[in-house]
Amino acid sequence: MRLILLGPPGAGKGTQAQRLVEKHGIPQLSTGDMLRAAVAAQTPVGVKAKAVMDAGELVSDAIVNAIVAERIDQPDCANGFILDGYPRTLPQADAVGAMLDERGLSLNTVIELVVDDKALVGRILKRAEQAKAAGQAVRKDDNAEVFDERLREYYKKTAPLIGYYYAKGLLQTVDGMAEMDKVTASIAALLAKAGAKM
Ligand code: ADP
Repeated sequence: MRLILLGPPGAGKGTQAQRLVEKHGIPQLSTGDMLRAAVAAQTPVGVKAKAVMDAGELVSDAIVNAIVAERIDQPDCANGFILDGYPRTLPQADAVGAMLDERGLSLNTVIELVVDDKALVGRILKRAEQAKAAGQAVRKDDNAEVFDERLREYYKKTAPLIGYYYAKGLLQTVDGMAEMDKVTASIAALLAKAGAKM
């Protein structure tokens, strides 16, 4: 099963992706996590990406496409994967389509988590507070100012993917404002309906 989780920052993609990992035993491919790992390891990609990420803007398509192309060839992706935070632009969507075509693979579905913008900044600030309370590092982009820019980037560059995948007949939507377990149940129902391999 290969699927994309789509939605603005703070929509709950990461949480739901984790639950799908546990249930289906396929990996979560979060470009945000991969980029943060590159930043922490100070790889050439990480050094380039850091300032862009800290400002809430998007890293170049070329960089993220290359990261994903390499990742999906790893053995743990053989039975599928969950793309979380990727693709995030129309060129990325075309790129992942081409990557899959080349490998004789396809996407089962794209699930959009629909949320109310006004709730998002609160969720992000809560995540920052929780990280701090747990003694973990707080993401540099998890604050109200940078969040505004992340949301603008989402509407400008990522929201067009909703129409893109709708036109391909792949889009399904879930109410991301429901409580977490309900969202999980809705996604499970959609996957069962899509006949995705469980
Ligand atoms: P969020 O929690 O806002 O959904 P992520 O953890 O997915 O954020 O990503 C954090 C940052 O990493 C983004 O703001 C962006 O700078 C960069 N990033 C992650 N994925 C991509 C992508 N597919 N294309 C471009 N930039 C990306």
